[in-house]
Amino acid sequence: MPELPEVEHLRRTLEPRLLGRRVVDATLHRRDVAVGPKDPPGGFARQRAVVRPSRLRAAQLLADATIERVDRRGKLLAIIASDGRALGVHLGMSGQLFWAPAGARLPTDHVHATWRLDDRSRLLFRDPRRFGGLWLAETRDELPPWRGLGPDALTLPPEHLAGLLAKARRPIKAALLDQGLLAGVGNIYADEALHRVGIHPAELACEISAPRALRLGEALRELLRLAVEAGGSTLRDYRAAEGQAGAFQLQHAVYGRAGQACLTCGEVLESGMLAQRTTVWCPRCQGGL
Ligand SMILES: [Zn+2]
Repeated sequence: MPELPEVEHLRRTLEPRLLGRRVVDATLHRRDVAVGPKDPPGGFARQRAVVRPSRLRAAQLLADATIERVDRRGKLLAIIASDGRALGVHLGMSGQLFWAPAGARLPTDHVHATWRLDDRSRLLFRDPRRFGGLWLAETRDELPPWRGLGPDALTLPPEHLAGLLAKARRPIKAALLDQGLLAGVGNIYADEALHRVGIHPAELACEISAPRALRLGEALRELLRLAVEAGGSTLRDYRAAEGQAGAFQLQHAVYGRAGQACLTCGEVLESGMLAQRTTVWCPRCQGGL
């Protein structure tokens, strides 16, 4: 699943191509991947099951609007038009925003929305597994998923992390994955950051001392920054705006390495389930409980 570095890398590659461009036309190929302002709350699954969703017009997908910038909070992107309207994009497990210049061959499978821009380039939203989706709102701050997110992990001052963790009576791994507490960290970067600072993933977040929380905050920010620069981690589906793969997966110290030797001490890395996610840690570097 794309995490903060992948989405931030995508934002940086996408924004210069979209900036100042007018959306000539927008087409939604699957109605149930988008949530409009008049749709019932609860997201896509509820819409499919209970209520017939409102009709979405192309104008709500930013047709005729000029793109002013692309924002990000955690793993959520928001494409902002010059009149303030916002299109929220979540990549879910396998989503992609794919940009193609005029005349380029376009992928055709799992394309759920297409935008034609005034330089004849196109933007496609693809999502084979459909855990991602699109949201439409009059302003960015009215996008329901944007409102529910905690502070962004890349810009959070490290000294603020202790205050967030103090309220979380849960294993630190579960707290880091809670997007309402801190937005952007997923399974990869949670495990990597905890290994870097020697904190066991099952340790209670509220019991981590302020100096250790500060070190964790610093490690997390450094890790996210390096991963953004490396173009993110490509495990299965993640791709940048023109289909490029990331390279940060080559630097993972624990994620995906259960049963192998710790790169720091040589101990065999352990794994288990925490917060319903496979978690990998070093029993020596990250202590016992
Ligand atoms: Zn170790």
